[in-house]
Amino acid sequence: MVSRIIQVPSFDLVVFGATGDLAQRKIFPALYGRLLAGQMPSNAKVIGIARQDISTNKFRMLVRKSLDVYFQLSSVSDKLINSFLQCFVYVSVDANSDKNWDLVRSELRPDKIRAFYLSVAPELFDKLAAKIFAKGLSTENSRIVVEKPLGSNEKSAKALNGMLRNYFKEGQIYRIDHYLGKETVQNLMALRFSNVLFEPLWNSKFIDHVQITVSEKIGVQGRGAYYNKTGALKDMVQNHIMQLLCLTAMEPPSQFVSDLVRDEKLKVIKSLGTVSELDIVTGQYWENSSENFFRDVGDQNTKVESYVALKVSVNNLRWSGTPFYLRTGKKMRDQVSEIAIIFKEISHSIFDDQKAKARNKLIIRLQPNDGITLKTNIKDPGLGGMRITSVPLDMTFAEALDINRYKVANAYERLIMDVIRGDQTLFMRGDEVEEAWKWIDNISRQISSNQIPDRYASYSSGPESSDLLLDRDGRKWRSIK
Ligand code: NAP
Repeated sequence: MVSRIIQVPSFDLVVFGATGDLAQRKIFPALYGRLLAGQMPSNAKVIGIARQDISTNKFRMLVRKSLDVYFQLSSVSDKLINSFLQCFVYVSVDANSDKNWDLVRSELRPDKIRAFYLSVAPELFDKLAAKIFAKGLSTENSRIVVEKPLGSNEKSAKALNGMLRNYFKEGQIYRIDHYLGKETVQNLMALRFSNVLFEPLWNSKFIDHVQITVSEKIGVQGRGAYYNKTGALKDMVQNHIMQLLCLTAMEPPSQFVSDLVRDEKLKVIKSLGTVSELDIVTGQYWENSSENFFRDVGDQNTKVESYVALKVSVNNLRWSGTPFYLRTGKKMRDQVSEIAIIFKEISHSIFDDQKAKARNKLIIRLQPNDGITLKTNIKDPGLGGMRITSVPLDMTFAEALDINRYKVANAYERLIMDVIRGDQTLFMRGDEVEEAWKWIDNISRQISSNQIPDRYASYSSGPESSDLLLDRDGRKWRSIK
């Protein structure tokens, strides 16, 4: 069997914020995952940076501890882990100071690809990008990686892009949305663009509506102050849900290469209609007088939403007349991320059984249990006439593809390797981010001037008004299990 690993060249990865949550919980375990898969070059180097004054040894212990959470290290030989940890060095640097940058420079190797991962608060992006440039650390073969929040509105996103482009070319800037690195999200593109079956039906003639759901069971979890300035719309819709919407609605690019894919996504964002006040629902979770959203964000008067649902139109030839319903919320019944394509009823049924009119549904599930299900109508087995029943055609690929032999890479594993090999297909381009904010800014203005969020019970499906948003169109949300 042909190896599924495409080797990447050796690299120096500089992680700013190396002692923080993102680095310890996602970035370093992802690198270890690639080592286990045989993709991490043995002479790769990771230079961890934060203000804390710790030795490289102490830093390696921190990294080892973070790996313990995700991998059963006891089952792996110490030799392997130690060789992995040898790749890591630590330099204490404060983004606000000129001290120790020469130590960072001395760790960098002239002939290697360099990636600077800004895993720090966005207020530090500017200072760090400027320092990387001023200290002469950046080469033609360098990349810079940033992650949400990429601005808080169109103006700040433009300012951030302008700042980054002062020091790096657009082709060197990697804006991560980790949803794009998920296996199922890429499968959505494979499904649409490599099968003759789906693309002819992928339009308003056959699709009644689309539902995109990203529900979380957790609350704001210690991020109350940040969340109270952000809310569900900016925290989830502007990035993750927008990316899912784009991949669902976009036209096929002529080739699967980064700028052609990103051009098509941008066209979708530009086609989004203005969302009217009547098509926006916001909510705040409430358990009891001591457990609620207000307490979690530390603001009894907050109008910020922990839930938002929208009815959205994509104004182009393919989608005119097919609404996209989007929803996301915290403290919901379950953690679900999915795209549901709800097809139209068959125009004329030859069967008496009304169930023959059940709509076909294509469910693209990102979590839990990622996979794709097609709901189809078949004959109920056995005697008793032509009774029809709806059954899921589960596209579980594990057996067919012998997936168990290959651990499926998580999103960060894939994205970090793409950064190293210089493939921007699964990263957002600056104009995409700005255009997405422009659209969100309009909705945000409507929410702040017109809406008092409705209360919804914690661990429910969201506010009743959200059900009404679909009821009035004769539709229903899929249940959040
Ligand atoms: P965090 O846990 O607060 O870590 C921040 C890191 O930055 C620490 O290593 C901190 O170490 C370092 N730092 C702070 N001030 C610094 C300075 N002046 N100079 C150099 N280093 C400094 O934050 P995080 O959760 O990892 O998040 C990092 C970024 O990723 C944020 O922009 C966040 O929005 C984004 N993000 C995070 C996640 C996630 O799952 N955590 C997901 C998506 C996006 P010292 O205090 O020792 O300097």
